[in-house]
Amino acid sequence: MKSAVFIDRDGTLNEDKQGYISKPEDFHLFPFSASAIKLLNSLEMDVYVVTNQSGIARGYYTLQDMEAIHARMHADLAAQGAYLTDVFFSPYHHRGVAAPWNVVHEDRKPGLGMFKKALQQYHFRISSSYMIGDKESDIIFGRKAGLTTILVRTGYGEQCWMQKRASWQYKPHFVVDDLLCAAQLIEKRERK
Ligand SMILES: [Mg+2]
Repeated sequence: MKSAVFIDRDGTLNEDKQGYISKPEDFHLFPFSASAIKLLNSLEMDVYVVTNQSGIARGYYTLQDMEAIHARMHADLAAQGAYLTDVFFSPYHHRGVAAPWNVVHEDRKPGLGMFKKALQQYHFRISSSYMIGDKESDIIFGRKAGLTTILVRTGYGEQCWMQKRASWQYKPHFVVDDLLCAAQLIEKRERK
């Protein structure tokens, strides 16, 4: 059975400077992201993006805006020979304004809704699969799902880890500089 890598979007795969990304022009992959995904592709692992997009519930942008951003994400990666198996997103937030997304929902990380959807659609071995992200919610998500968790220092990673890790109930298995370092760590473990 295959192994899978779950990857957070904002701050892990792409820059997360101004908060909510609402249009494709503002979406910028990190310069190393395509190399990282290509490396995972070469290991024949499934690669799923799992992203909280509460900006939809908050009324900052629409589902269609997000789809346009994801089209750019796929195109920018494909131009560099890198491919995502699938993208799962959560548009929910309980303090949002836009129905029907303004509710508490299991899909919002650290809830496991997106993990369960991936598990239903694809076959992968949980115990040899990974979660990579820049926030505590990514690590909780990965830990609860039974994945090996990797925190990256990009996005909010460095700040959260340095300032708040003492209070984290779930700690990452590994902390690395960025997504490429995470992919290289996975490669090393896969080739053992
Ligand atoms: Mg993030």
